Amino acid sequence: MSEETLEQKKNRALKVIEILRKTYPQAMVTLDYKTPFQLLVATILAAQCTDERVNQVTPELFRRYPTPEAVAGADESELREIIRPTGFFNQKTKAIMEIAREIVAKYGGNVPDTLEELTQLRGVGRKTANLILGIVYKKPAIVVDTHVKRVSARLGFTKHKDPTKIEFDLMEVIPESNWIELNHLLVAHGRAICKAPTPLCERCPVLELCPYGRERMRLD
Ligand code: SF4
Repeated sequence: MSEETLEQKKNRALKVIEILRKTYPQAMVTLDYKTPFQLLVATILAAQCTDERVNQVTPELFRRYPTPEAVAGADESELREIIRPTGFFNQKTKAIMEIAREIVAKYGGNVPDTLEELTQLRGVGRKTANLILGIVYKKPAIVVDTHVKRVSARLGFTKHKDPTKIEFDLMEVIPESNWIELNHLLVAHGRAICKAPTPLCERCPVLELCPYGRERMRLD
């Protein structure tokens, strides 16, 4: 595996994707939302919080404040109380209100559709921006979250720790048409099998294709 060429790595990546797609046919975003703005808000709330907990909070949040206009004009203390269970609620409340105001003022209430504009919104990093681009606007984008970071390193697709560098490494190895599903598949795999800190390699469907797993299971 250490002598692997880029072409070989690309072929291996395709096989991994094929197997993971069969293993996790339902893999998708687990946050509940109805509009681009709601996905943006849910993603911000999901920082340092589980998607399950966010999904418990957002029905009430979106019922009372469904649009950027509604959030921009919300009573801050009321909003804070609703999102309190997601943790870091002071920062999240401020971020969401500021984003809503900016979207209303600069983009007429529509969530922008470019990486540059999205990452200029307060509290929106590359990860969130790429999620919105891929899921909402169907533009090729790779989301590097904690699962993608861990699983792609174990699979030998990157040696980097910095999410942006990982994103570029993955862009080189994975065909553009697979970028959006890549995140869903690696997240599903990271949650079910390739767990932190200890992966369940003995049960892994891509063990044969994984340098870390092969070494760990002494298959080489
Ligand atoms: S073989 Fe192990 S390390 Fe490799 S992807 Fe599977 S669970 Fe993760």
